[in-house]
Amino acid sequence: MRVIVIGGGIVGASAAFHLAKRGVSTILVDRAHPGQATAAGAGIVFPWPFPWAAPQVWEFELRAADHYPALMAELAEDGEATGYEAVGGISVSADAATADQEFELVKELAAQRGFGGIGRVERLAPGEPAERFPLLPPSHQGVSMAGMARVDGRQVCDALRNAAEKRGLRYLQAEAELVGDGHRITGVRAGGQEYRADSVIVAAGAWSARLLAPFGVQIPVFPVRGQITHFALPERSTRDWPCVRIGERDYYMLAFPPNRIVAGATREPEAGFDYRVTGGGLQQVLTEAIDITPALAEATVLETRVGFRPGSRDSLPILGGVEPLPGVLVATGLGAEGLTFGPYQGAVAARLALGETAEIDLRPFRPDRLVAVPGS
Ligand SMILES: Cc1cc2nc3c(=O)[nH]c(=O)nc-3n(C[C@H](O)[C@H](O)[C@H](O)COP(=O)(O)OP(=O)(O)OC[C@H]3O[C@@H](n4cnc5c(N)ncnc54)[C@H](O)[C@@H]3O)c2cc1C
Repeated sequence: MRVIVIGGGIVGASAAFHLAKRGVSTILVDRAHPGQATAAGAGIVFPWPFPWAAPQVWEFELRAADHYPALMAELAEDGEATGYEAVGGISVSADAATADQEFELVKELAAQRGFGGIGRVERLAPGEPAERFPLLPPSHQGVSMAGMARVDGRQVCDALRNAAEKRGLRYLQAEAELVGDGHRITGVRAGGQEYRADSVIVAAGAWSARLLAPFGVQIPVFPVRGQITHFALPERSTRDWPCVRIGERDYYMLAFPPNRIVAGATREPEAGFDYRVTGGGLQQVLTEAIDITPALAEATVLETRVGFRPGSRDSLPILGGVEPLPGVLVATGLGAEGLTFGPYQGAVAARLALGETAEIDLRPFRPDRLVAVPGS
């Protein structure tokens, strides 16, 4: 049995790891496009479904929440660094009514079975958020959720790939295309060579639709550009700072040791695959960041990263086989939540490639489902 995985972001790397761990002959082919979402992702892990998430994804996300800490512990045991740390998270607001409302909502979610991932929920009085994340204004109050974590997308990918290579994974840095015999997908062409496989997993993020298009299969995935800025705070340690969401603004920031702050991000579905830091994007990120946390005006700007989130037309994950085209599976479409749910999606794809059934109902996630495209 041989499986080929196309795409070395967090989803493909996880699929490759889970296959190699099972002793399956596996090849991972990655083009490492500029704009790989995993390399640009902020790194917030929020292991529970949002209350407004479609009911079909709850089971998927709850299982993903259980999978995460176990996988991170496994990689740590293997000697691989992931940057994963359960630093907790806070949602802040200048307004008591907003914080009260959020507290009630999160408390209710946490009380339900299955939402244990949220951890301890606390209402924070004015000034308390600033004690935990000292750049915040003292006037802000909020809600704290102990179960949130941070992760370094680049490190997790490297860790999964390294751990898989130790178990026999073959890794190719190349652009891949699917190869078929008129009835099914039989393998992959990459770096001028053809590789046969019993099953191919397309985990090519926002680029996934391009791989299937030559076979007349449409996948409802599209790029959503994000620009996100990294700062350094001189002479300050940010080691234990929690992840922060600014309730009213759909805006977030988080910290990485020793003194890095990450703030963003833009959401630009109209930008296509345009890999650039733009004046408007940078202005938006810097204005929001400095408006909320004026101390960042004195921080050093380290870099602005650009990534293409794999958006899904109906906001549901894209996961499973493609009915008219045996031999290929697709795993993508996690949009702004792929660093959180990607490792589990990769694990499920690995099981499907081995002919096993998933523990959840995948019918709503069918990759070739028909989804109306706005404006067409
Ligand atoms: C600014 C920003 C902030 C984010 N913040 C968070 C966050 O805080 N928390 C969270 O949970 N999620 C976050 N996300 C979302 C998350 O990063 C993505 O959902 C996730 O990384 C997607 O992973 P992926 O493996 O599906 O795709 P990608 O990481 O994009 O990987 C796809 C890979 O496939 C390769 N590829 C494509 N075509 C081919 C081909 N033909 N041959 C070979 N290789 C190919 C590409 O080169 C790429 O390496 C953020 C995203 C962005 C952009």
